[in-house]
Amino acid sequence: MGKDKMDKKQNKKTLVILILTVILLVLIAVLAVILMKNKEKQDENTLAYTELIKELSYGNIEKIEMKTGSTTVKVKVKNVEEEKTAIVPNIESFMELVQTKVAEGNEIELIQKPRSFISQLPSIIISFLPTAIMLALFIMIFKMQGLGEKGKVYDDTERKTKIRFQDVAGLDEEKQEMMEIVEFLKKPEKYTRMGARIPKGVLLYGKPGTGKTLIAKAIAGEADVPFISMSGSEFIEMFAGLGASRVRKLFEKARKLAPCIVFIDEIDAIGSRRTSNSGAETENNQTLNQLLVEMDGFSSEETIIVLAATNRPEMLDKALLRPGRFDRQITIPTPDLKGRLEILKIHSKDKKLSEDVNLESIAEDTAGFTGAELENILNEAAIIATKNRHEDIEIMDIEEAVKKVTVGLEKRGRVYSEKDKKLTAYHEAGHAVVSRYLPTQTDVKEVSIIPRGVAGGYTMYKSDEDKYYISKTEMQEKLIALLGGRAAEKLVLDDISTGASNDIEVATKIARDMVTKYGMSDKLGPIDFQGKEPYEMQMFGENIGDKIGAEVKELIDTAYRDAQSLLIEHKDKLDAIAKELLAKEKIGEEDFKKFFA
Ligand code: ADP
Ligand code: ZN
Repeated sequence: MGKDKMDKKQNKKTLVILILTVILLVLIAVLAVILMKNKEKQDENTLAYTELIKELSYGNIEKIEMKTGSTTVKVKVKNVEEEKTAIVPNIESFMELVQTKVAEGNEIELIQKPRSFISQLPSIIISFLPTAIMLALFIMIFKMQGLGEKGKVYDDTERKTKIRFQDVAGLDEEKQEMMEIVEFLKKPEKYTRMGARIPKGVLLYGKPGTGKTLIAKAIAGEADVPFISMSGSEFIEMFAGLGASRVRKLFEKARKLAPCIVFIDEIDAIGSRRTSNSGAETENNQTLNQLLVEMDGFSSEETIIVLAATNRPEMLDKALLRPGRFDRQITIPTPDLKGRLEILKIHSKDKKLSEDVNLESIAEDTAGFTGAELENILNEAAIIATKNRHEDIEIMDIEEAVKKVTVGLEKRGRVYSEKDKKLTAYHEAGHAVVSRYLPTQTDVKEVSIIPRGVAGGYTMYKSDEDKYYISKTEMQEKLIALLGGRAAEKLVLDDISTGASNDIEVATKIARDMVTKYGMSDKLGPIDFQGKEPYEMQMFGENIGDKIGAEVKELIDTAYRDAQSLLIEHKDKLDAIAKELLAKEKIGEEDFKKFFA
């Protein structure tokens, strides 16, 4: 081989490498654009994980589309045009939940897709893909570590909100407390001059939908400062270190915008107790540590107030609650009668209600409902009224909406066998008859064997007035009422079904709380056993777990026996009501009472 040829070959090689590099760069650019587009789309139309679970349990999810290896799923919610995306922290357990819903008769269309952009690319390019992905990954990792150029790595909503305290119904005392934070944000100098330390973090405890986000926005609105928010579940990522980096970026931004409010929803997703080992947990640790570092880092001149929301306070790492971090905690309760009425008023302002609709009586009937559920009821009522071609929203539309939100949509179309029908009739009659003989239980409002949502039938009770305390007797009787369905199946058909699974789930939770949270077991005494670490449990003796289990079982067994004996005693009523249900499918409050006249 001559020198000339060698050179030519060398040149050719360089050229090939050059072309390859160009192709790769183009590929990366394409990938990056697709990724960014996806990301943008997500930002516009996301559904919080808690919302997703809620919709799923209401039976409102029609379609779930997921991509292999991705934690993002696309869902179609009933009555909502646009498909929404949601981030699922644990795909496996989420799928389990979906499967149970499907098994219960929910019609959910499941679509599993390979990562879409791969399938669209021609095959030649695909052979380069691994290299491209590797490079893209490197670039992403660089970006994550803050070495790359500044880019939008996290999702946030940063703007001044128009929401004010007057948009938050009820919660008067909580608002009072929040007023102080508004003052801090407005005039920090006033406080620092006195030597007061401005609070850095406030934790809001409360069920989903009780208005935690709303009140956080209202604080920002009242103080006229920017509101930056992020959900804890968004921090859970497949790439190690990304969570921590997102936290850092979030606070970088907050520093620039200070004074401002940083809102972290579902903080339990990152702030759970730190335990060592496994991958996901180490990732969480890094994220949590970063959050702690940030909170310790900003000085009081910076006036950043971090509000965080959770409905599982017992899960939180104690380090979060130390002074200088989330040292203020405010519980956001489910609204009482007055609160519910105010919420209904706020959310019915823009709706056409019929004259005869009495918001007070709706408020009375909805004890235990959250603000979000009440809002949802009014929305559903408007949809139902439209479907019914009513001039305006009538009482029956609202009643139907309440049922839809609590037990799901009526499914008259679902066919089920005579045998299933009989089983459901006895199951529901069992609940209704048993609770009729339990003094602490509220009156039956409606019994039905028309399938609704995931339930084959349902028994609705009149709403309780708001109560701050529930007695042990009341809880015991609640257990009996819950197990009345299963007891009736066994008594009449001498067989039991899966239809009682939800009753059993609820009953078990109540019994466990009675023993471990409310100290209602005579044997174990008034001790809080919940959320304790294993070493803390050992204080109570080696076999404390067994003893708790035995007490829970005892409560359930007793309740089941009591339900059975009540049904045996009143077998005539059970038969009569089941028969009526088979004939008419539904029994209202007045007709139900007649059986006991
Ligand atoms: P959380 O953050 O506690 O899960 P949100 O603040 O997201 O609850 O509440 C969801 C929706 O429910 C709100 O946007 C609002 O429409 C309604 N809502 C909840 N609580 C209230 C309230 N106290 N007053 C008015 N609306 C409320
Ligand atoms: Zn039941």
